[in-house]
Amino acid sequence: MPNVSNTNREPTIQIYNTMTRSKERFVPQTPGKVTMYVCGPTVYDLIHIGNARPLIFFDVVRRYLSVFYNVTYVVNFTDVDDKLIRRAEQTGRTVPELAEQNIADFMKDTEALKVSPATLHPRVTESMAEIISFIAELVERGLAYESGGDVYFRTSEFPEYGKLSHQNLEELQYGIRIGIDERKENPQDFVLWKAAKPGEIYWPSPWGEGRPGWHIECSAMARKYLGETIDIHGGGMDLVFPHHECEIAQTESLTGKPFAVYWMHNAFLNFNNEKMSKSIGNVVNARELAKRYKPEAIRMLMLSTHYRNPLNFSEDGLIQAQNGIDRVVNCRNNLKHLLKNVPAEAAGENRTESGGGSAPSPALDGIMEMFHAKMSDDFNTPDAITAVFELVSAANGLMAGTASDIAVLRRIDGMFKQMDEILGILPDETEELLDEEIDRLIAERTEARKAKNFARADEIRDLLAAQGILLEDTPQGIRWRRK
Ligand SMILES: [Zn+2]
Repeated sequence: MPNVSNTNREPTIQIYNTMTRSKERFVPQTPGKVTMYVCGPTVYDLIHIGNARPLIFFDVVRRYLSVFYNVTYVVNFTDVDDKLIRRAEQTGRTVPELAEQNIADFMKDTEALKVSPATLHPRVTESMAEIISFIAELVERGLAYESGGDVYFRTSEFPEYGKLSHQNLEELQYGIRIGIDERKENPQDFVLWKAAKPGEIYWPSPWGEGRPGWHIECSAMARKYLGETIDIHGGGMDLVFPHHECEIAQTESLTGKPFAVYWMHNAFLNFNNEKMSKSIGNVVNARELAKRYKPEAIRMLMLSTHYRNPLNFSEDGLIQAQNGIDRVVNCRNNLKHLLKNVPAEAAGENRTESGGGSAPSPALDGIMEMFHAKMSDDFNTPDAITAVFELVSAANGLMAGTASDIAVLRRIDGMFKQMDEILGILPDETEELLDEEIDRLIAERTEARKAKNFARADEIRDLLAAQGILLEDTPQGIRWRRK
């Protein structure tokens, strides 16, 4: 069980690790810090809702971990590859022009889904020196070989190849027709560097003009920005093999250390119970959907299914999700209305009488504990959303009753904010706390601390933090400013 309610103590987080096929306790390599790498898009087109699933899910993982840790989150852009080259040819643009446009569109479309930019979004074309030197190190150590201007990874040098997808080398060999490519020593060897075909974009290298293979990019960029071993490596399930398997082979054969401690993969997304595919013609891009539905509804539907289960995305589901959000919004509006209309003196009296509204707090504690218990159990977002609705029921019950203790109402309001900072399923509030209200809360916090009521003091601090209010201890007392 996690042990967090109002404070930001480190909880026991369990993560399902694809490598071990089991849930494991999450322990970052460096206390207080987390490094996270999620394979980003090949920027040849707009993102579709299938791409949006990992973007939204790992955004929530990052938000949740950020409550307790300093998270460095890297999502790369593959801005040169076959698809980009082909698309550029078809549209009469250069590869860099096409990539630039699609990266700008990606940032716009993900922002529309309330996905924050990663700490870093490195691009392949800006990491070429690191990619080439990574390949050169592999060649030097006999882990890769040049063949006709291409460079291949020598899988026979990495006996653990297949360990993430739980296949052994023999099984892998069996699956590949022998002799399909004479440039390779072994059919399962994979390309690290591709010789340029006439007219293609290229970079100079020790093996001639060419460009990197897809897998090596992630190994090189992860090492450049996050070091040899990252805490969490994520992506869609379709990346387990061959992409992540190849990343592991490249990095681990060179460093002798695990590439990632935890491997996380989200399951597929279907649209109206059908696999999305260009041939069926049911690919829905995120931009089109965001024109018709609110981002909160899209996030709510995405997060209503556990990330390791297939998700069925449908317009009915979006409507239901929006109905659910409306219930929460109504509840919050009633709460705000009550909070506004309770006179300040009454609030003051209540505070001294109730000592911070202790009467219904066990129920609220239970809801917050449930929320954290679910989030820290392998990011069980559907059950965490259930906790949000339990809070709605509890709040509606309290507001309908006579005992509308202002401290309790404020606490509920703060809880909605805390939960939503992680899930991002509620519309942004435009109302800010008034200056007098902030002064009053700070005074209440000072008194609570004097009375050794640290729970209440923490609650007020969190509530102010949620509103973007920063507190500073000065010799003249507490000062505050807006972020
Ligand atoms: Zn990758």
